Amino acid sequence: MRTSDVIVIGGGFAGLTAAITAAGRGKQVTLMTSGAGTLAIGGGTIDLLGYLEDSTLVDSPRDGLSRLAADHPYSKVGGQAVADAVQFFLSLCQEEGFAYTGSLDSNHWLATAVGTLKPSCLVPLTMDMTPVKTASHVVVAGFTRLKDYFPELIIKGLSKIPGYQKNYEQVVIDPGFVGGRDVTTLDIARWLDTPTGQQACFEQLGKHIRPGSVVIIPPVLGSRPNYDIRNKLEQALACKFVETVIMPTAITGLRLRAMLLNRAKKLGVNIMEQAHAAWAVQDGNRVTAVVTSNIDRERSYTTQAVILATGGFFGGGISADPDNVQEAVLHLPVVAPPDREEWGTLKLFSGAAQPFAKIGLKVDASLRPVDAQGRVLLENVYIAGRNLAGYDYCLEKSGNGVALVTGYTAGLNC
Ligand SMILES: Cc1cc2nc3c(=O)[nH]c(=O)nc-3n(C[C@H](O)[C@H](O)[C@H](O)COP(=O)(O)OP(=O)(O)OC[C@H]3O[C@@H](n4cnc5c(N)ncnc54)[C@H](O)[C@@H]3O)c2cc1C
Repeated sequence: MRTSDVIVIGGGFAGLTAAITAAGRGKQVTLMTSGAGTLAIGGGTIDLLGYLEDSTLVDSPRDGLSRLAADHPYSKVGGQAVADAVQFFLSLCQEEGFAYTGSLDSNHWLATAVGTLKPSCLVPLTMDMTPVKTASHVVVAGFTRLKDYFPELIIKGLSKIPGYQKNYEQVVIDPGFVGGRDVTTLDIARWLDTPTGQQACFEQLGKHIRPGSVVIIPPVLGSRPNYDIRNKLEQALACKFVETVIMPTAITGLRLRAMLLNRAKKLGVNIMEQAHAAWAVQDGNRVTAVVTSNIDRERSYTTQAVILATGGFFGGGISADPDNVQEAVLHLPVVAPPDREEWGTLKLFSGAAQPFAKIGLKVDASLRPVDAQGRVLLENVYIAGRNLAGYDYCLEKSGNGVALVTGYTAGLNC
């Protein structure tokens, strides 16, 4: 199919959200992506706004929105669009049988693998810490040879946090894997997908469970986007499970990606994987076709509109060399401090926003690219996700939040 109403470039969270939104409105959508995006390795939580630029903690993302700068992507699209995107996402997850919990009114605080708490807005049901808050006995489970996961670190950290001084017990479950390499959470999740894994986990954990126990566990409760494994084990063991935030790669991101791909396919989105968008054909200030290049040849795909969700520096959508900062496909101007000395601040770990993290494309309220004077450059192009200028997702904890809100808005506007 070489003709679409909308071409989405980029298959990360922003691109998938945009494609699903546009296809849900009856548009014929082609999504072309050269890779899987950070969603496939990330935590799969929707961090909307955890901190302001000066590191002030945000209890309620809804309240925090009004304190953001005018060039922040949330300010560009407005508070109502943020609220609509959150509702859209929660409904989508519910409909797909993989419900998330959360609201704009307050952040969740999630347990990390190093025993700290991390703010996030919308989270899988398995990460909700509410059961831990009310439990008296908490089993912290690890797995033999699981890389970078130490239950004792979690216990040590959580025990110092007010409200989390509990009766902790450490348990190491042995999946019995043989062979040389380190074990990953994906290995364990796939093992727990099987009746053998579930039975072994049940037997090894069972003797530590008391009435009302809660088990803190790495994100391993099944590799698929549903809660079947958690439900089975909770029923069998009569306890509650809570999954932690871990270093990449995390199954929680893979589950979310699988759910979004399922939805996109159901809506008839034409998904082109390993498709590298190289350049675009323009007619005046409209893009009329996107050209992909591969080892064999170039191919042209005509379209009425384009959503550019190529992930900024991290995704490959923006690159920098000693002389230039460039947007790779449409050659749009990138907003960056002119002096490279100003790209970073020396206060690396003191909670200051990093100027390089805010480098990106400038847009109008509809997410169309604009020049320094605010004039729209391409009338039928919309920018989403990490390509956008004006926010430091690492500091703010707003990565998937901006991807969701701007992907959704771009999908509506196209
Ligand atoms: C390790 C890690 C973990 C994270 N965990 C979380 C988390 O748990 N919660 C959270 O809120 N945020 C998290 N983030 C941040 C968050 O993942 C990102 O901010 C957000 O997902 C960005 O989405 P995106 O779609 O804009 O970009 P990306 O995910 O980078 O996707 C860009 C896509 O564009 C494709 N692409 C690029 N150029 C082209 C081209 N020319 N042609 C075709 N395709 C192209 C790429 O292959 C990719 O598929 C994490 C980030 C990292 C790095």
